[in-house]
Amino acid sequence: MIVEELNVKEIATGVLSPMADMQHEQLLFCNDTKTGLRAIIAVHNTVLGPALGGTRMWPYRSEQEALTDVLRLSRGMTYKAAVSGLNLGGGKAVIIGDARTQKTEALLRRFGQFVNDLGGKYITAEDVGMTSKDMEYIHMSTDHVSGLPETMGGSGNPSPVTAFGTYMGMKASVQHVYGTDSLQGKKVLVQGCGSVGQHLVEYLVKEGAEVFVTDIFEDKIAETTTKYKATAVDPNNFYGMDIDIYAPCALGATLNDDTIPQLKCRVVSGAANNQLKDENIHAAALRDRGIAYAPDFVINAGGLINVYSELLGNYNRDIAMSKAEHIYDVTLQIHRYAAEKGITSLEAAKAIAEKRIEDMAALKTPFSRNY
Ligand code: NAD
Repeated sequence: MIVEELNVKEIATGVLSPMADMQHEQLLFCNDTKTGLRAIIAVHNTVLGPALGGTRMWPYRSEQEALTDVLRLSRGMTYKAAVSGLNLGGGKAVIIGDARTQKTEALLRRFGQFVNDLGGKYITAEDVGMTSKDMEYIHMSTDHVSGLPETMGGSGNPSPVTAFGTYMGMKASVQHVYGTDSLQGKKVLVQGCGSVGQHLVEYLVKEGAEVFVTDIFEDKIAETTTKYKATAVDPNNFYGMDIDIYAPCALGATLNDDTIPQLKCRVVSGAANNQLKDENIHAAALRDRGIAYAPDFVINAGGLINVYSELLGNYNRDIAMSKAEHIYDVTLQIHRYAAEKGITSLEAAKAIAEKRIEDMAALKTPFSRNY
């Protein structure tokens, strides 16, 4: 049985080692040949509460790519919940496949059964490639779903809450840099006129900022500039613009070796996930250029705060918004802590999150039911 022994060894080094490096608690590999489901559920940390994080359906080029994604995303959720003061752990799930062609009711309901097998240790939600209708199917197999449509008593679309939290984080960053949090007259570039970007533009325009918008789709730009007083710019040529604030609200990795040297702004604060191409390099690169970076997982936590409010029961959008307002204080605390310790804002955010997990670990047994 040399082959089997080799396989076991390969899994031990290829899966458990990265889990150990990133300190994950548990991975669940899901296969269902009939429905074509191939998925991985990652539970990173449940010290603060059940691991909550969305399910992403994506045509990963390899299993390794899917594994890497779910490990990184679930760890990010642990940081996000911890720094936001929520009693939630970090988790995430990925389904390997093309959401446009391979997603079926049976596949989603089978996936829901796997979520259910974890007994509430992992709570799923919407992410890339998933819709609220898909959440309804998953919900048919398990109660451990959040972010359900409002018609089902859920919290509905999280984007307005995410945008408000991002706006709060932006104001706190501006306060840190300029000594006042007013955005009146500030030149702000919003990249990505999607659900979050458009709501953010609304707040900025209302406060009297001079807003520039960009998107890869012209109709998205037109939709935004028709609704709000904003100027359209070329999506491929704006990093060197003379602006005060850059708000990435589209894709990740827009802060990299190529773009950072071009930036003239003093603040980067937007909703996009994984904005830094390489955390180990680009947080420091921004700091060294005198740019205050609001860590993405801190200021885009509004969506998570929204589903957390749903889990608490009797969901109320106003209460979720007022909780998202707290992102202002958290962001300011992070900038100040980073300045005081001479570390990057990213390091500061992670340190604050880790400290909270450590402190609470001393109080509670892992996987508490208390939200
Ligand atoms: P969305 O899909 O509604 O909007 C994204 C927009 O970005 C689209 O209009 C798209 O055309 C545009 N875009 C894509 N690539 C671009 C590029 N290279 N240049 C310019 N524009 C580009 O997504 P969303 O829900 O608004 O989310 C925006 C970002 O915020 C994503 O990174 C998402 O992961 C993150 N986020 C969203 C939420 C939420 O509540 N929706 C919560 C947390 C984080």
